[in-house]
Amino acid sequence: MNKSDAERLSGMLDYLGYEQTDVPKQADLLIIVTCSIRKLSEDKAYSAIGVWGKWKKTRPNLKIVFCGCVAQQQKEDLFKRAHYVDMVLGTHRLYEFPELLKRVNAGERVCSCDEVVYPEKDFPINKAKGYGAWIPIMEGCNNFCTYCIVPYTRGRERSRDSEAIIKEVKSALKDGYKEITLLGQNVDSYNSNGMNLSALLREINSIEGQFRIRFVTSYPTDITDELINTVIELDKVCEYFHIPMQSGDDYILKRMNRRYDVKTYKAICDKLREKVKDVTITSDFIAGFPGETEEQFQHTIDAMRDLELDYSNTAAYSPRPETVAGKWTDLFLSEEVKYDRLNRLNDCVKECCLASNKKFVGKEMEILVESFEKAKGTINAKTIITGRTRNNKIVHVPCDRDLSGEFLNVKITGAKTWYLLGELI
Ligand code: SF4
Repeated sequence: MNKSDAERLSGMLDYLGYEQTDVPKQADLLIIVTCSIRKLSEDKAYSAIGVWGKWKKTRPNLKIVFCGCVAQQQKEDLFKRAHYVDMVLGTHRLYEFPELLKRVNAGERVCSCDEVVYPEKDFPINKAKGYGAWIPIMEGCNNFCTYCIVPYTRGRERSRDSEAIIKEVKSALKDGYKEITLLGQNVDSYNSNGMNLSALLREINSIEGQFRIRFVTSYPTDITDELINTVIELDKVCEYFHIPMQSGDDYILKRMNRRYDVKTYKAICDKLREKVKDVTITSDFIAGFPGETEEQFQHTIDAMRDLELDYSNTAAYSPRPETVAGKWTDLFLSEEVKYDRLNRLNDCVKECCLASNKKFVGKEMEILVESFEKAKGTINAKTIITGRTRNNKIVHVPCDRDLSGEFLNVKITGAKTWYLLGELI
């Protein structure tokens, strides 16, 4: 979501006549899009602007803009911490940026963090180079998981107008992007004027041309039969679901305010594996949630293995003071315990990932080629192409020419922990 915000801000700057520089120290304007999901990301943002503040001492005309989730939390208070910042821009006000920048350039210091959404404007979008375009379709969240800051920084759920989304998809396809990922904190909750995610997928699928469609992130209980059938039916929609489970223990799930238990999550995975051919399911887990016992943690390890999850993102619990769990200080676990559990969780991720990759050896799969480069490690070739399958597996294929951007069928010949090996058919 932050990447997408940055692409939009960059497009607005192009429109305003700014040019990008590769030398930040020489820039007239520096913008940071911040994340507050964990303390570490927040700290990184403060340390970056600290450096910029020092540059400003010798270049007083340098303008500094602080936006994203930390901006939304801090509002005016940010100026107390970093007096050299010129603009604090909240998550609901992205499209107000050009107007605010005019005021900043006239010498004002501005903060716009209202929770009233500033209407979307038709500015160009500077999408990152490559073949994948990330397109937000909804933002915010109503779930209030006890550990999560998102409802406080991105606000309540709101869906973008489907016409604006379709227009953005068409424009990305025209620019050569071949994989469209629809983004939302709870992407399955998309609902704009009665159009749900399945209906939106149908609309996008009907656009002419060869391309793929993905969507992230799915809340487990929002995956309906209608959505599963839509994925099966639509040729461009990929067989890939990212469904954060967060814990494999029912008591901890309750404490997290997640509205499902392990049995329900398993039933969703079982249904997907039964109905969607070659589907992969990935997840997110938190190690060391406040009060988590060793036994409860073991349930998470057991669940990851039992569910045969194809890959999982993991993180040690990071207290966010504004959240409900962030106030359970007497239940916080030591850093040592949290990181020991995180390491064990990561070992389990590796094991599951290798087991998942092995299942595809011998199969023919379609890849979208993303790069051409010199072969590294044990691959017996001078050069390789690297592509991604429909179910989101990375495949390295010996090849002597650059086929980037092409859809190719390859035969999977080997499996490593983080990637597959293949050969051209
Ligand atoms: S559903 Fe996701 S975004 Fe929403 S509160 Fe829970 S973890 Fe945060």
